[in-house]
Amino acid sequence: MTALRVTALETRLLDIPLVRPHRFSVATMHTQGVLLIRLVTEDGIVGWGEGVVPGGPWWGGESVEGMAALIEHHLAPLVVGQDVLRPEALARRLEKLAAGAPFARAGVEMAVWDAAGRAQDVPVSQLLGGLHCDRLPVTWALGTEPAEIVVEEARRLLAEGRHRSFKLKMGTLPAAEDVARVCAVGAALDDAAPLAVDLNGAWDEYTARRWLPALADAGIHLAEQPLPAANLAGLARLCRQLNSVAVMADESLWTPADALRLATAHAVDILALKIGKSGGLSATRRIAAVAEAAGLNCYGGTTIETSLGTAASAQLFGALPAVRAGTELFGPLLLADDIAAEPVTYEAGKLLVTSGPGFGITIDEEKVAKYARR
Ligand code: MN
Repeated sequence: MTALRVTALETRLLDIPLVRPHRFSVATMHTQGVLLIRLVTEDGIVGWGEGVVPGGPWWGGESVEGMAALIEHHLAPLVVGQDVLRPEALARRLEKLAAGAPFARAGVEMAVWDAAGRAQDVPVSQLLGGLHCDRLPVTWALGTEPAEIVVEEARRLLAEGRHRSFKLKMGTLPAAEDVARVCAVGAALDDAAPLAVDLNGAWDEYTARRWLPALADAGIHLAEQPLPAANLAGLARLCRQLNSVAVMADESLWTPADALRLATAHAVDILALKIGKSGGLSATRRIAAVAEAAGLNCYGGTTIETSLGTAASAQLFGALPAVRAGTELFGPLLLADDIAAEPVTYEAGKLLVTSGPGFGITIDEEKVAKYARR
């Protein structure tokens, strides 16, 4: 096979319920909007992609509704007629066409990779050079609820053997109160599981300098995005100040150039990778290459994908040796239902990387019809 052209690219807007509301410092999710992307090639191979953001435009300005319009009017016309067997070239064309819309580009690029894998009857991970790891540890994100509620949820998951580490969302309460809440969680769990916190950029540098040591004393080992995205110098100072807490960039990291800036500034210990925010597998892989060269570890992040986006992330992260800091690919566990005929599987706190052609996910059309927005 030398070329395989795209003949159609269409989208469908879905709303999938969650098992419980998911609280961030600035937004609460009750359902997850999913823009399902279906790509068809000239010989009838179908590739699937998924455009998602964490519960709305607060994270990066994009929304599923905006992605649908952008794809229909701008990305689909570019992709139709292109060769799915050259996903890297296509990714760069998409970057030039819609630089500021990484989540939309990521969904489209995902469908291209899926079709490329299916056309060659191999998992996408094989197109990426093959897996280093076929089981990825998955941490669970606990919301910003009071300590008792969070502890109960964590204890239940530990007892059921479903997760072995947790990440606590912070930033909705005043810092002193929020820190007291997290310290209470730390004390109640008493080292039963590693605990991380994610501030989503909610603190200023003084607040972080003042309170992160207290979190360290409470056993927190990782602070994700304590400062706003742009404050690289502040992150670097925090990194120098903290001994037992690793600092991770999420909102500060979108592009490979961001990764290079963070590494050069010695601003963080860990980079949080997410296919969506970086515009797809191609750019995320380039970020991991920067991390590897700089000696930084990567973490496999989520924007709360269904089994489709989760399988795509897992195949990529499993193929990247720099992803040594675990993952949070819990999307399918937070969603009350899935669009996959056979959802991804978890075993003892680990996600099994799918192995079928493409991303190895068959879409259940009945589920798609059930959750389609009317
Ligand atoms: Mn985050």
